[in-house]
Amino acid sequence: MEKVLEVNELHVSFQTYGGRVKAVRGVSFDLRKGETLAIVGESGCGKSVTSQSIMRLIPEPPGTIDSGSILFKGKDVTKMKEKELRKLRGAEISMIFQDPMTALNPTLTIGDQIMEGIIQHESMPKEKAKQKALEMMNLVGIPSPEARLKQYPHQFSGGMRQRIVIAMALVCEPEVLIADEPTTALDVTIQAQILDLFRDIQKKTGVSIILITHDLGVVAQVADRVAVMYAGKIVEAGSRREIFYQPQHPYTKGLLRSIPRLDIEGEELIPIAGSPPDLFSPPEGCPFAARCEHAMEVCDRVYPFTSALSKEHQVDCWLQDSRALAAASMK
Ligand code: SF4
Ligand code: MG
Repeated sequence: MEKVLEVNELHVSFQTYGGRVKAVRGVSFDLRKGETLAIVGESGCGKSVTSQSIMRLIPEPPGTIDSGSILFKGKDVTKMKEKELRKLRGAEISMIFQDPMTALNPTLTIGDQIMEGIIQHESMPKEKAKQKALEMMNLVGIPSPEARLKQYPHQFSGGMRQRIVIAMALVCEPEVLIADEPTTALDVTIQAQILDLFRDIQKKTGVSIILITHDLGVVAQVADRVAVMYAGKIVEAGSRREIFYQPQHPYTKGLLRSIPRLDIEGEELIPIAGSPPDLFSPPEGCPFAARCEHAMEVCDRVYPFTSALSKEHQVDCWLQDSRALAAASMK
C-alpha cells in the first residue's frame, strides 16, 4: 500500500532547567494511505511529541529535532522552512486535540471558523467556501447545517463541538489527520459516536489517520495497526489483531491486563507496578527492565534489537531474540 508518511529514526529532545529531556529516542514507522495507525502509551511516553513533530508544532526551542527524518510524500518535514510548513499544516496534514474548546474561538460563528482554513489556504471566494463548510458539516453529522452555521461554539454540546473541530480539520482535504486523544474529554456514548465518525470519514475521504491515545479501548475500535510507545521508543508494533491477541512485549501485555475487556467476565485488572524511567538520563538497556518480571541480566545493559515476528509485527525485547545470549557477553 502507498506510504503517505515515513518517520525514520526520529530523535527529539527538550532543554529544561533540569537538563535535556530525551522525549523521542529513535522512532520509526510509516503511515499508509487510508489506514488508521494508533500510537499508544502512558502519558510522557513521547507519543504526543512524535505527532507534533510531524507538523513541526513542538516549540523550537526549547524543543529540537536532533536527528532523523519525517518524509511526507517524499519531502522531509524536518528540513522545511516556515513558508512550506504553513502550507503543509492544515492543508496536507491536519491535527485535532483533546479539548475541542481550546481549538474553537468563542467569538466567531462556527461557519466562519470552518471557512477560515479554506479561505486562507485556497483563496476560495466566500460563497464557495460557505458551500464547502455546509458539505463538511454534513460529512461530520451536524444536523441542519444551514441554520447552525451562524451559531457560536457555546451553543453546541461537547460532542458537537468535537464534530466541528473535525470539520475544520478536514475542510482542506488533508491527506493525513492526526488526532491526539480526540475522545478523552468526552463521555463514553459520545466517544463511541466520534470513533464511528472517524471510520465513516475515512471510508468517504480516504484520509490516513494517526490516532494518539492512552486508551486501548479506543484503539480496539478504530485502529488498523498499532505502535506501542514506552520511554520515547516504539517497543512493539503490529496489526490490531497481533497486538491484541498475540502481544509479545511484557509492556504491551501489561497494558492489556490493565484494561477492562467486555469479552472476559469477572477478570482481574492488574495495573503495571512501578513507573517509567527518567528521560533526562534514560537507561542504556531496556527502559522497561525495572518494571519487567522477565528482566534478565542483559536487559539492564543492552537495548534489545528489533525482532520481526511477521510482516507487520515487530518487538524490541530480548525474550524474542536468540541473540540475547551473545549480547549478554558483549561489552
Ligand atoms: Fe523485559 Fe528484558 Fe524484554 Fe525489556 S528486554 S521487556 S526487560 S525481557
Ligand atoms: Mg499527550
